Amino acid sequence: MEKKMKHPAKSCVRISVLLACLLFLLPLITVTVIRREKAGEQEPEAIEILPPGEVDSAETIRVLADGKVQQMSMSEYLQGVVRAEMPASFEQEALCAQAVAARTYTLYKISTGSNHGAEADVCTDPKCCQAFLSKAAAASNWGSRSKLYEAKIENAVAATDAQTLLYDNAPILAVFHSSSAGRTKSAGEVWSQDLPYLQSVTSPEDGSKIPNYYSRVEFTAEEFKKKFLASHPEADFSGGIDTWIQNLTVTEGTNVNTVTIGGVTVRGPAVRAIFSLRSASFETEVQKGKIVFFVTGYGHGVGMSQYGANAMAKGGKTWREILEHYYTGVSIRSWSRGGAA
Ligand SMILES: [Zn+2]
Repeated sequence: MEKKMKHPAKSCVRISVLLACLLFLLPLITVTVIRREKAGEQEPEAIEILPPGEVDSAETIRVLADGKVQQMSMSEYLQGVVRAEMPASFEQEALCAQAVAARTYTLYKISTGSNHGAEADVCTDPKCCQAFLSKAAAASNWGSRSKLYEAKIENAVAATDAQTLLYDNAPILAVFHSSSAGRTKSAGEVWSQDLPYLQSVTSPEDGSKIPNYYSRVEFTAEEFKKKFLASHPEADFSGGIDTWIQNLTVTEGTNVNTVTIGGVTVRGPAVRAIFSLRSASFETEVQKGKIVFFVTGYGHGVGMSQYGANAMAKGGKTWREILEHYYTGVSIRSWSRGGAA
């Protein structure tokens, strides 16, 4: 280091020569890398696109998007949901499982009274109903793989035409999430009501292959207090920071069940909401005067894990086996708005 400092001029000459060489070589290197990437990139496999299923094609869905109601067939609607809700790079059987979950969720919404009264059956807001992505919008995201991916999506819907998850002869609340911490969570762990078909089951996703599967979030003492007091003003943070979080208990579904913060006992999913954590599977630690959350997985954790479904599909499971695993005690049958199809 010191030696270089004593000879700045020499260094400059060396750097100039190096830069000149690089300038000359860079286009060659870049071209080679691009060529290698192209050579390594597999040509999209030509896969046959199945015609839309008869039952889904005949069913009209009224979809509220950007303040306007559009009418489309169930096939078109479900294609849009699968494009938006699951990566198209996932295994075909996982995409099929997603199509059935999306169809079931839609029929559940319709049969239990939609969130949109007489105006529409569903909307495209993922916080209210399910996300939706048009063919054109998805194609521009997918680039060179758009033909293959679109075929996979359309086939996932067509190959599962009308197939719906039923419990007590009615479509179920087929919720799903991105990834679990090794087990899914029961509906009762996360929401107020437990449901017999939304129970905690094992989930085989490989965390090392999932982006941001393990996340870390930290808060200064002041930030932590402010956020918690906004929803629980009765909390008492007069003691040392080490005493603020106590009695953390965990459910079978690896969710935090309850935890006492500033003397107030709250449920794990409530803590997730207050601190905007990626899931309610977390541990906490005090590090250098800050409170750190170590979070595993993404989403509410109830129903089918999408990464878990993809891992099962890679292991040779069919879409039926995936769905029967994640939704306890369901039957899978042809169904439409009017009932059995
Ligand atoms: Zn909605």
